[in-house]
Amino acid sequence: MTDLTANIEKLNGYLSRFRDTGIQNLIGGQTRPALSSATFETTSPVDESLICTVARGGAADIDAAAAAAKAAFPAWRDMPALERKKILHNIADGIVARAEEIAFCECWDTGQALRFMSKAALRGAENFRFFADKVTAARDGQQLQSPTLMNVTTRVPIGPVGVITPWNTPFMLSTWKIAPALAAGCTVVHKPAEFSPLTARILAEIAHEAGLPDGVWNLVNGFGEDAGKALTEHPDIRAIAFVGESKTGSMIMKQGADTLKRVHFELGGKNPVVVFEDADLDRALDAAIFMIYSLNGERCTSSSRLLVQDTIAEEFEAKLIERVNNIKVGHPLDPATEVGPLIHKVHFDKVTSYFDIARTDGATVAAGGERVGDTGWFVRPTLFTGADQSMTIANEEIFGPVLTAIRFATEDEALEIANGTEYGLTGYVWTQDITRALRFTDKLEAGMIWVNSENVRHLPTPFGGVKASGIGRDGGDWSFEFYMEQKHIGFALGQHSIPRLGA
Ligand code: NAD
Repeated sequence: MTDLTANIEKLNGYLSRFRDTGIQNLIGGQTRPALSSATFETTSPVDESLICTVARGGAADIDAAAAAAKAAFPAWRDMPALERKKILHNIADGIVARAEEIAFCECWDTGQALRFMSKAALRGAENFRFFADKVTAARDGQQLQSPTLMNVTTRVPIGPVGVITPWNTPFMLSTWKIAPALAAGCTVVHKPAEFSPLTARILAEIAHEAGLPDGVWNLVNGFGEDAGKALTEHPDIRAIAFVGESKTGSMIMKQGADTLKRVHFELGGKNPVVVFEDADLDRALDAAIFMIYSLNGERCTSSSRLLVQDTIAEEFEAKLIERVNNIKVGHPLDPATEVGPLIHKVHFDKVTSYFDIARTDGATVAAGGERVGDTGWFVRPTLFTGADQSMTIANEEIFGPVLTAIRFATEDEALEIANGTEYGLTGYVWTQDITRALRFTDKLEAGMIWVNSENVRHLPTPFGGVKASGIGRDGGDWSFEFYMEQKHIGFALGQHSIPRLGA
């Protein structure tokens, strides 16, 4: 039996429960269908086969979930920190125990390759452990003495929050949002992406088995325009943590205006990897390839624009073409696969439309630029060369295994190109000249930058983007700034004189 055959057999074991019962919502600790009884179907991008039906929640389900989150909030907020910490560690243990099931389901539901998904499941557990260990300090404040008052600050959880997640690495991203919310003392209504509902259900189950009280974590499946919209408009939901496209973020901001919703947005990117002639070119090549072709290029932090200095461009691009043509496209559960199918036909149509756009723009399709096979949403890893920053392919987020290479002559020109998009999520700079690295990163418009490195996450550091790439930061204490409110209390130190009106 090959590894792939064995993995498919295991997958069928994991999927049988979904096939039998479909995916239901979880509201107030109860597994339930949508109140309207509506469902939708989720299919696999590998072969377009039906995985299962999913409850299609709407405004009524969101209302029930928000009521459950509101009712559960006081007890969860007031639970001793050490007890909350223990439950969050139990969730991490539960994720580790079911990591293979999570990874296999995620691969089948999203098309991501197993080599990356097994790590993503474990990163989800790390997110819970990291924030579990921060629970005991979450409410710590300051003492700010004035002549007449002892002023103290404390932090309190904001209340029930809505979490809306996308279909790319949905399991890991859900944990990245929900773990700090729970650690802060908030209760949650989670609306996962309609294209990838499987692992959100597993995660909510793990949380309840770990001892999370009913109503603290509610799951409502459904579409953005009904369940998602209702969540952003609900008066009992104090804040929305959203990960997704920039234009959806803009819609959510409008939808949340009437209820003055606090928002935290992690949005799109068109991130540059800038390679100067003095860089360690072998390492830069590895990193540039990894950061766009791993995770199918369906990754907000992907380096989708390669900016390469013209003195080394020809050689660098030649090596790149050879490597890109060698990338293994295949079944996501095959351990050898490096790139799996794109999430869905809708997204496949979007990504492949750029092959013609590139040609019309006047760029060269130097590798890929075509579908692989005629079943499932597989595309050949693609490289556009001869591009410039005025082209559509250099500005729009393609969100697939597609890299646009642009040449530059000088550092100033590289900076102008790098900053020449509406986005500002990440940047990657390759140079041995430390002064140049400092100068360049200082001016580069991005929330996160790595020098001589691919993206390596460190949980205490701030994660987020500038410009159209986001509002707010996750990670470390920054997450608590979103999920908590600062409170000031002034205690009189004595009987200072108070102005007497009407005396
Ligand atoms: P999307 O914006 O289409 O959908 C994201 C979520 O929003 C889904 O759950 C969807 O149902 C919901 N939604 C859609 N319309 C809504 C509305 N009107 N009101 C409320 N909710 C609504 O994004 P996607 O295609 O699922 O994900 C890919 C995008 O996410 C890319 O742009 C990517 O860059 C971005 N992303 C960003 C980060 C980051 O950290 N910056 C991380 C991952 C993904």
